[in-house]
Amino acid sequence: MKRCPYCFESLDSRPSICPFCNQFLIEDLLDIDYQPTDKKKCIFCGMDILVESIICRYCHRWVDEAESNE
Ligand SMILES: [Zn+2]
Ligand SMILES: [Zn+2]
Repeated sequence: MKRCPYCFESLDSRPSICPFCNQFLIEDLLDIDYQPTDKKKCIFCGMDILVESIICRYCHRWVDEAESNE
């Protein structure tokens, strides 16, 4: 299954912009064969997002970068 490398949501096609996190998909999509289910809360908007995501699909902020500054 193809997934956005930023928000980790599944994508059916190869859009130039991810419909979930609005990022330009300049890198190859992730191709993984498992179903990610673990969630974390976005520290900005509080929504549940996949733990693998580095950009929140709801508020489009970089959650990965923020975490490393903790
Ligand atoms: Zn995305
Ligand atoms: Zn968020």
